[in-house]
Amino acid sequence: MTGSPVWLDDGMRHVWLPYSQMKHADPPLPVVATEGTRIHLADGRVLIDGIASWWTACHGYNHPHLRAALEAQAARMPHVMFGGLCHEPALTLATRLATLLPGDLERVFFAESGSVAVEVAMKMAIQYGLNRGERGRSKILSFTGGYHGDTIATMAVCDPEEGMHSLFTGLLPEHFVQPLPRDADSLAALERFLDQHAGQIAAILVEPLVQGAGGMLFHDIAVLRSLRDLADRYGLLLIFDEIFTGFGRTGTMFACQAAGVVPDIITLSKALTGGTLPLSATIARRHVFDAFWSDDPQAALMHGPTYMGNALGCAVANASLDLFESHDRMAQVAAIAGWLAAGLEPCRGLPGVVDVRTLGAIGVVQMDRINDLRALKRLLLAEGVWIRPFRDILYLTPAFTATEEDVMRLTGAITRVLERGH
Ligand code: PLP
Repeated sequence: MTGSPVWLDDGMRHVWLPYSQMKHADPPLPVVATEGTRIHLADGRVLIDGIASWWTACHGYNHPHLRAALEAQAARMPHVMFGGLCHEPALTLATRLATLLPGDLERVFFAESGSVAVEVAMKMAIQYGLNRGERGRSKILSFTGGYHGDTIATMAVCDPEEGMHSLFTGLLPEHFVQPLPRDADSLAALERFLDQHAGQIAAILVEPLVQGAGGMLFHDIAVLRSLRDLADRYGLLLIFDEIFTGFGRTGTMFACQAAGVVPDIITLSKALTGGTLPLSATIARRHVFDAFWSDDPQAALMHGPTYMGNALGCAVANASLDLFESHDRMAQVAAIAGWLAAGLEPCRGLPGVVDVRTLGAIGVVQMDRINDLRALKRLLLAEGVWIRPFRDILYLTPAFTATEEDVMRLTGAITRVLERGH
């Protein structure tokens, strides 16, 4: 196909794109099909996908088992309201998630996006205090380098300075954002902070093991154990935002399992539906739910997104869990981890590269800075790969079905582009 399709030219006059300065952004690439690890463009080019559509498509695109579940559910019932009504896909999914998650993380609240899942977790944590008669605990403690979404409430718990929302600094609901306790000094500093402020705090909120959109920053399981300890000592809830890490990305089904830590609330989305439909879940432990179990109507969780528990989304999420049961995805993640480490190794020492790091199916090349992001994206595209560097990193988060050849083509593309001194 040559020239751009008419829907593209017309639509580009009306669509508002994400994270884009519309005046200067390159036009988005028109996609006509996706299959496995491949993205098919309208002009006939086929790209190898390095990022699984913002980390969602863990089984590869258009997986026949997911598609079959979707089509069967669409024929029966795409959606019905979740207020006063329920259905098998949502209740089965709730049971399966509660069974998969560690400890007594067992009460599942559905929504449609990651940001809303985090907002629900924040609201649950604050109301947990209110329901127990503790009115002063209205703030969330989160961490520099963190990212939890783009809504007003979630922007307020992202990194205020480094993050992409810095324009809003000072205008958002006030929470506490502190350095992550990576060593003894920062842990002691956080303890001193909590000595002063714990009475105002409802919960500690963290992305376990990897701060994703904040720059793919890794931390040790010891950090998570320290946070569990601090939460217990100061009487705070601990929320793990596993929207990025959930469903195997870091090498265990959930990142909290690597640390042997059970948070009080966990948020999931992204790979929950294997990259097919928007769905998220906020899952609470029994003692959190118990604080809402009351004769007082005011103690109920007053939240209910219109499309919560969407039957198509839940059916496809169940099908995604089937694939985790029928295929050893964790073995595939371990294999990808090895290929990423080997494939990115030659980047060490290339001009501008300050670090190469991998964890599970995540590979990161850290630059001291990227001078021309747009030019870098174009060079990667010319290599036939779909990779979206941001800020000062290039990263890979391929589907778990990616082959060694796929991963080597992705890492090879990055290496070649950086060798040319970008
Ligand atoms: N939390 C984390 C850790 C994320 O990585 C993201 C998205 O990248 C979100 C929350 C927000 O999710 P959504 O974009 O679905 O609102």
